[in-house]
Amino acid sequence: MTSLELVTIGTELLLGFTVDTNSAFLGQAFAEAGVRVARRTSVPDDPEAVREAVREALARTGFVVTTGGLGPTRDDLSKKVVADLLRLPLVFRPEIWDELSARWARMGRTINDRNRSQAEVPQGATVLPNRWGTAPGLWIAAAEGVVVMLPGVPLEMRGLVTHEVVPRLASMGRGLVVRSLTLRTTGIPESLLAEQVSAVEDGIAPLTLAYLPSLEGVDLRLTAWNLPPEAAAAALQEAAARFRAVVGNQCYGAGDDDLAAVLLAACRSAGLTLALAESCTGGMIAERITAVPGSSDAFLGGEVCYANSAKERLGVPPRILEEHGAVSEEAVRAMAPLARAKFGADLTVAVSGIAGPSGGSAEKPVGTVWFAFADAGGVETRRVNFPGTRHEIRARASQYALFGLLSRAKSAGAGGMGVARLNTTLP
Ligand code: AMP
Ligand code: MG
Repeated sequence: MTSLELVTIGTELLLGFTVDTNSAFLGQAFAEAGVRVARRTSVPDDPEAVREAVREALARTGFVVTTGGLGPTRDDLSKKVVADLLRLPLVFRPEIWDELSARWARMGRTINDRNRSQAEVPQGATVLPNRWGTAPGLWIAAAEGVVVMLPGVPLEMRGLVTHEVVPRLASMGRGLVVRSLTLRTTGIPESLLAEQVSAVEDGIAPLTLAYLPSLEGVDLRLTAWNLPPEAAAAALQEAAARFRAVVGNQCYGAGDDDLAAVLLAACRSAGLTLALAESCTGGMIAERITAVPGSSDAFLGGEVCYANSAKERLGVPPRILEEHGAVSEEAVRAMAPLARAKFGADLTVAVSGIAGPSGGSAEKPVGTVWFAFADAGGVETRRVNFPGTRHEIRARASQYALFGLLSRAKSAGAGGMGVARLNTTLP
């Protein structure tokens, strides 16, 4: 068995009140186990809809995993429907009843007969013990195929998948896995990146490549399909090295690497301290940095100087703000060294921009953001026009600032001469 289908059950999933995170988790967990999710379907808590979805999926793939509809509140709707579909009678299993009674007793309550249905399972089903909640999972092998039923509560579902389902799949499989490796890039648009890596991309088969753009940049996700684990790991490493070589500095990490964490690591190894002067990002950069545990060894602090008066209090001459405006090269050129001096830091960035939706002009449209990077060597400025909503502009500006700091921290670590004389890779 190399592929299966998912059926996630829950009216709330279709109404959009609950995001179907179970599907995302299952896709990844099964891929790790070498099983491809061929299709997924979401249906409401409606017996006919559940029945049809499971029946069709079973007819296509012969292996279906469901989540949801197992809880006592729904009175085991999914379980009854599936038992009926597979023409299996529900049988009472005393060991489940004992386990449920013990659980209720631990909560200081006595179980009542209305919960009996929770101890009934389709005949011949393997019960997957649920240590994280009340409704056990079920592994039902029938003539039509296998149906694995899991509770909807994400914590319980994940526990069952990791401890019960994946080991069973692994013992059925041929030891082949589907494995991915993600490279994280920033500061380069998707289309340009695609052009840059196209020669490498042409030669990676049978690996596949996916571009995953977000506000932080574009992730390149390489996937090895149906290979033994060692071969998959080796193929991914080898391909990743080729991509890194052509992408260069714009690739700042892999996997879950966070740009702020990578920056802090670079500052630590170069023995640098950081400070910020934030206007339009309003503390977002500081938030990204301080979200990383242990950031205080490199990050000293930042100032949110939003109003002109706050910029003046930092020490920006009023004349600069009057003549050039708060969103100007002159303003950030003044702010960055002032913040550097105020905090006694080695490296600073100052950010001032128009996040919108109002406040733009022909000369300075919404999305215009000025940056100044300052270190012992001097000050370097950049102007960027970011697309998007207010939130997107602020998030993109924060990412840009972090990446600019990283480039400069790396140069300093490599014995650089200060930002004013460096030709960095910033776009
Ligand atoms: P159930 O097992 O159907 O009673 O689901 C219990 C709870 O789990 C629901 O109220 C949701 O909050 C959550 N849940 C159910 N299905 C999903 C899903 N596919 N993704 C994320 N959460 C879910
Ligand atoms: Mg439900």
